[in-house]
Amino acid sequence: MTVSVVLFTSDLRLHDHPPLHSALASADEVVPLFVLDDAIEDTGFAAPNRRAFLADCLRDLDSGLRDRGGRLVVRRGDVAEEVRRIVSETGAGDVHLAAGVSGYARRREERLRGALADVDCRLRVHDAVITAVPPGAVTPSGTGRDHFAVFTPYFRRWSGAQSRALFGAPRTVRVPAGPGSVGPPSRAGIPGVSPGLAEGGEIQGRRSLTAWRRHGLGRYEERHDDLAGDATSRLSPHLHFGTLSPTELVHRARAAGGPGAEAFVRQLCWREFHHQVLAARPSAARSDYRSRHDRWRTESAAGDIAAWQEGRTGYPLVDAAMRQLLHEGWMHNRGRLLASSFLVKTLYVDWRVGARHFLDLLVDGDIANNQLNWQWMAGTGTDSRPNRVLNPVLQAKRYDPDGAYVRRWVPELAGIDGGAVHEPWKLRAEERARYAYPEPVIGLAEGLARFREARGLD
Ligand code: FAD
Repeated sequence: MTVSVVLFTSDLRLHDHPPLHSALASADEVVPLFVLDDAIEDTGFAAPNRRAFLADCLRDLDSGLRDRGGRLVVRRGDVAEEVRRIVSETGAGDVHLAAGVSGYARRREERLRGALADVDCRLRVHDAVITAVPPGAVTPSGTGRDHFAVFTPYFRRWSGAQSRALFGAPRTVRVPAGPGSVGPPSRAGIPGVSPGLAEGGEIQGRRSLTAWRRHGLGRYEERHDDLAGDATSRLSPHLHFGTLSPTELVHRARAAGGPGAEAFVRQLCWREFHHQVLAARPSAARSDYRSRHDRWRTESAAGDIAAWQEGRTGYPLVDAAMRQLLHEGWMHNRGRLLASSFLVKTLYVDWRVGARHFLDLLVDGDIANNQLNWQWMAGTGTDSRPNRVLNPVLQAKRYDPDGAYVRRWVPELAGIDGGAVHEPWKLRAEERARYAYPEPVIGLAEGLARFREARGLD
């Protein structure tokens, strides 16, 4: 009887799962394993919203495996140690794992390789699980560079890359009787979870995908920036936890065709672009990708940072976006762009402060996408226009012209009709006094002047 282990990490699904497919094809029995990793808990990366979503994903994965005659084995502790223990308990000859991208995932792979060599077990690392095109599979020709630093040429090459065929979900999974499990955690009892957090798990992910293909994808190009319309896919947490396969999303969107699908595939490519940057430069999680030697404001900005985090900067659109984050653990992309620009450019606060706050709350909080989007906005990353500053009033007029998004998230301004809600400081004093809403933390002209001076732009 041959046994293989499949170690699940950010790939919590049964559909289109190359490691599981390969393990089932080559062994009589398979141990589907997830380790609640002490190292991730210790880094503070396991924020409540992601722990809650993860709990849903693990329960769902367990129940999907049970429907197929198997179960999920959940352990807690040091990941390399727990895998080695399972291998010793079951006599497994292979451990299958999706290739990771972050520095942490790479170290985990190395540690596993070391631990398994001691017990004569092979580690099989599978590409194209967490991204559709593996980082490093396409590189700029003739430059000697190991990754693309500019999106458009990457998109061109990525679009032409061969993608693998999709794998269906297995019909049956035979799991050996022995290995004990602490069982999947439950989201109940996790403190600090956002009240409007979405439900996790592959079933929910597939439902969302079906609804998106039927009702959202076709109009994505024209509606993706409509803040109040909320017309993006909201699939990002499912991509982060791997309850949906990026390869499958690309296949399905390409099959649907049309401008909406093309625009959607382009966004999926942004995700892959950031992953290939991080894979080549793991230090970009913490350090400037392109050094600018910026002297960000620190102590003097403590009050401004708190106002930004709490959604009381006095700029209604910024505040609406930050409150959506607090309430849902998710924020619309247009909100993320504006909120990050406001912190790093208008308030001139270090991007790491904002990235940390986002990671504390975002259910899709992801080292590649979060840190590199923050760097993009800070002008320390891959943006070819590093000094662009988004104006919250102009952005509001463009992307929330009627003010509906602001009224949804900033209820104290709900009595102001139309686009006037974006500039409460223009109301007559008696009217203004009716709304318990703060004055702007800074004038936009003042913020812009400080930014331009700090960057030596005048
Ligand atoms: P859709 O518009 O439906 O797009 C489909 C998918 O494409 C998304 O689910 C996502 O996987 C990918 N995508 C879209 N835009 C981007 C982008 N700019 N960069 C990378 N991938 C993209 N995304 C995360 O997944 N995790 C993060 O931690 C994260 N942090 C961000 C921080 C900042 C400051 C900014 C500006 C953006 C960040 N993004 C992050 C990117 C983007 O905002 C979200 O992916 C998107 O809002 C998720 O909503 P959606 O699934 O409805 O996206």
